[in-house]
Amino acid sequence: MARLLVVYALITAVPVIGLGIVLAGTFRKEADRRGLAEGRSEATLIAQVTIGPELDGRPLSAGVSAAEKADLDRVVRRAVAQGNVLRARVRDLAGRVVYSEDGSGFRGPVEDEVLDAAHGETVLSLTHLNADSDDEGPVGVASVEVYLPLVAGTPGHRVGVLELYLPYAPIARDVRAGLHSLYLDLALGLAVLYALLFAITVSVSRGLRRELSINAFLAHHDALTDLPNRALFLTRAREAVAHISSEGRPTAVAIIDLDHFKDINDTLGHQSGDELLTKLAHRVSANMRLGDTVARLGGDEFGLILRDVADAHQALARLREVIAAEVDVRGLSLSVAPSIGFVAVSDRDADVDTMLQHAEVAMYAAKTQHAGVLEYRPDLNHYDASSLGLVAELRHAISDGQLVLHYQPQASTATGRITALEALVRWEHPEHGLLAPDRFLPLAEQTDLIDTLTHWVLDAALSRIQYLTDRGLDVAVAVNVSARSIVRQDFAREVIEALERHDVPPERLIVEVTETALLIDPARAAEVLARLADAGVTVSLDDFGQGQTSLGYLSRLPVQELKIDRSFVTDMHENPAHAAIVRSIVDLGHNLAMRVVAEGIETEAVLDTLRDCGCDVAQGFFLARPMPADSLEAWLAATGKQSRR
Ligand code: C2E
Ligand code: CA
Ligand code: CA
Repeated sequence: MARLLVVYALITAVPVIGLGIVLAGTFRKEADRRGLAEGRSEATLIAQVTIGPELDGRPLSAGVSAAEKADLDRVVRRAVAQGNVLRARVRDLAGRVVYSEDGSGFRGPVEDEVLDAAHGETVLSLTHLNADSDDEGPVGVASVEVYLPLVAGTPGHRVGVLELYLPYAPIARDVRAGLHSLYLDLALGLAVLYALLFAITVSVSRGLRRELSINAFLAHHDALTDLPNRALFLTRAREAVAHISSEGRPTAVAIIDLDHFKDINDTLGHQSGDELLTKLAHRVSANMRLGDTVARLGGDEFGLILRDVADAHQALARLREVIAAEVDVRGLSLSVAPSIGFVAVSDRDADVDTMLQHAEVAMYAAKTQHAGVLEYRPDLNHYDASSLGLVAELRHAISDGQLVLHYQPQASTATGRITALEALVRWEHPEHGLLAPDRFLPLAEQTDLIDTLTHWVLDAALSRIQYLTDRGLDVAVAVNVSARSIVRQDFAREVIEALERHDVPPERLIVEVTETALLIDPARAAEVLARLADAGVTVSLDDFGQGQTSLGYLSRLPVQELKIDRSFVTDMHENPAHAAIVRSIVDLGHNLAMRVVAEGIETEAVLDTLRDCGCDVAQGFFLARPMPADSLEAWLAATGKQSRR
């Protein structure tokens, strides 16, 4: 700081000193000009009063007469003696010296000033006595050299030129007397100016430095959350990797992406979205160890650097729970679960860009597999950026007819009759072959493409069910609806319109919505479901048991069917806890007057158990795998369990 002040002091001094020098020079020049002006009036006076009257008016080219010379000697000597004049010479109009008091100058050349004076001008210059090239003797005192026309005889009659050397010292004394006080004023004024400039410089530079540091902060931080941005994140990640010690524990780089954040943004507005992000950002920061970094990489994506971490998976799983805990946003209690992908390295030479890319792949995999936290493995690579390319392709795929529905039958456990078909979407990709919904749905759900997709599925499923009904088959169709679509205001109306368009009675449509989808905006979801139920559509709560629907909320929901999550069903014979859960859900559903469906039935034994505990409807590979529409009719005919009207 002190060093900086010295620099400022020096920098400010430069213009002030410069100004001082220029002004002082100007003052001095002005003083000299005044000196010369004084010299001119003095010389004019001498020419008119002292020298002129001593000449008789004849041309001087013939020299001065003896009488004139005597008179001139007298007056000039007196002037010299009085110190008014140092030297005086009289020249004729051609410039030749015709009289000089001390006898000097007779042989010198005729200079231009002399001729100018012969033409009537007065020429002055500051010089020293004997400074002219033709003068002899040592250089004398400072003097004003004046050439001026000599008038004699009749007024205005120019007879020659008077060359005078006046002592400059008395003139200088005179004009410079005021100069000292002027210099003093100047110095004082400049000192004040200097102080002022210095103060301004210091204050301005202080302000600038503050602004600079703010800008530097903004350049490396995210404006919404104040967290480091991607650029700073990369820098820190490189530092962290470069400082991995050979005995130390690995350094992990993780990418966190919030699931269904877009839904919150779309349904509750950007301000709520921003508030949620800010709160989560603070929450994560507060739960990081000193020296670790959390950054906002963009949107709802965060980056983490965990240095010297023994078990990154465990640390991140803990962090995931911290993030997933409920957040209060504008009076709403929201909970967003993140998907976290990470990569851990112990190698100082690891490439950070690759690490980040791998963490991202792992994050996408975690998202699509609903895995929560996932460490990168090379076999996850098909979840890479090409998946993102898929989203772009998906838009065309829908209009190009590349999407198809497969149907999986549901049968009554009591009678074996086929009651419904669940429509499950697949993508017949021209290059990648048949893609399961896991590959593209989670990505489509990040964009409004999911609405187009829901719309298409609904249309295709209803048109298939109309076709089957026309052939005398009495089955319903179950359509899966994403969270995003269910909270859309128009959704119920669109469904009802689609039913009318395809001339399908509402009882033949089951809308499956996952329990977690309702959590995003429970009030709106309940409203849409109520409208569907009012229209006669069956609403089914899918993947039941996965979410945390409160029983109070559940009892108020217009839901007619519970679909037990298949993770409890498939292994219920090996897992007594799951078996207990399945039984409880069956009882719960029945107590709430709902139909209960079990999916994921892979063995006859499980089917038998479910029948025994009163589960109404069964679905699973044991009955049939999802099949293309054109295999459906043959399958239904072969099993013969569907009811014909
Ligand atoms: P989901 O709604 O739970 O659908 C049932 C999934 O379980 C289907 O997977 C089905 O093939 C599979 N499954 C059926 N029986 C068994 C079984 O016995 N054992 C096992 N292990 N699995 C069985 P799929 O077709 O891959 O669909 C996955 C998920 O994609 C669906 O889960 C659903 O959430 C979503 N999905 C599928 N089609 C659509 C759609 O048209 N729209 C929306 N929004 N989501 C869909
Ligand atoms: Ca389903
Ligand atoms: Ca399900």
